[in-house]
Amino acid sequence: MIIIPIKVEEKRNTMYSDDKIFIKNLPPLSIYIHIPWCVSKCPYCDFNSHSIDPNNIDEELFLKSLRCDLEQSLSLIWNRSIISVFIGGGTPSILSVESIDKILEMIRTYLRILPNAEITIEINPGTVDSLKMKGFKDSGINRFSIGIQSFNNENLKKIGRIHDKQDALNSITKAQDLVENINLDIMFSLPGQTIKNFIYDLKTAKSFNPNHLSIYHLTIEPNTFFSKNLPDDMPDEETSSGMDDLIEIELSEMGMKRYEVSAYSKDKFQSIHNLNYWTFGDYLGIGPGAHSKISFHDKIIRQKRIYNPIIWMNKSIKMDNSHIIENICILKDQLPFEFMLNVLRLKDGVNRRLFKFRTGLSIDVMKERINIAYKNKLLSKNSEKFIATPLGWKFLNDLQMIFIK
Ligand code: SF4
Repeated sequence: MIIIPIKVEEKRNTMYSDDKIFIKNLPPLSIYIHIPWCVSKCPYCDFNSHSIDPNNIDEELFLKSLRCDLEQSLSLIWNRSIISVFIGGGTPSILSVESIDKILEMIRTYLRILPNAEITIEINPGTVDSLKMKGFKDSGINRFSIGIQSFNNENLKKIGRIHDKQDALNSITKAQDLVENINLDIMFSLPGQTIKNFIYDLKTAKSFNPNHLSIYHLTIEPNTFFSKNLPDDMPDEETSSGMDDLIEIELSEMGMKRYEVSAYSKDKFQSIHNLNYWTFGDYLGIGPGAHSKISFHDKIIRQKRIYNPIIWMNKSIKMDNSHIIENICILKDQLPFEFMLNVLRLKDGVNRRLFKFRTGLSIDVMKERINIAYKNKLLSKNSEKFIATPLGWKFLNDLQMIFIK
């Protein structure tokens, strides 16, 4: 039996908008599927993930609930094509190959997946072997995103990861045997980590010549174990920023370019799924706690599912939409911020015309805010693109906040 503390989640439902917009062509659409379980909870993690003995997962009920969730969402995305599918978590690779196969079969049955769609699964090196990874590939996965975090056993232990260096090396080797498109997640500023440790992590990652890396600074989020029990050997600010400076130097040597705050890739290997988020595309998220953003010609809506996996399953199978805790229309006034929050994360910015395409609004609605960003030298005066200046890139949060109304 799975025991998870039950939190009452308040329902918000405002499916109306007084502010009319007109979106001529709907944006590209992605699908996100949330798998909420992990073998154990990492002390820094604030994702919707719950530790469980893998033998206790009721995969049949979970799959049935996912199917119900998808069926209840179909009317929102009727007749649209899917550019990417992302199975994330939690630890999706905690599920059996059969379950992942059934999930992808369900997606293909209900939706039109484009032939060149990117289909990613996040894997934790501590939960896979060669056979399992081959099974994932055979079920239609064409991209593995591997949660490596570090190649140093001491550092891995301190952040509560269940895998070690050897598991990490094995999973990368196997992934590269199976598919061309892989991402490695790496973290820095870990407890006890030195600059030398981090250089070793970067060099080891580089030795595999990966085509995509996501590199994150460990941040201490509220309500995590680390927020109440901060390790006493956290690197100081100077060491962390030294690590940060090293990333671009090391990666540019191998033809990798930073294209987003934390994402680096070789040419043509930028993540289709993540780029869709950052260019204010649409996504339907199913599974506990999954979020969606879906455009219609006259409105854009956001949805959130119930976070608790047990409650989400129980509600989803009722087929009365009670698994959806929030269903709101994004107000016209909020669109400039929502748009800029995403697109300014891209190092090369985006074409200014995208604002009209995605929001149905004229750029004039944020003229004043653009001028404030110019005045503060945070936004480039490039007439084609919305792109942060080097100062804006350094103070990205301040730049994004200018667009809040
Ligand atoms: S494996 Fe990932 S999702 Fe699971 S607890 Fe650790 S950081 Fe969170």
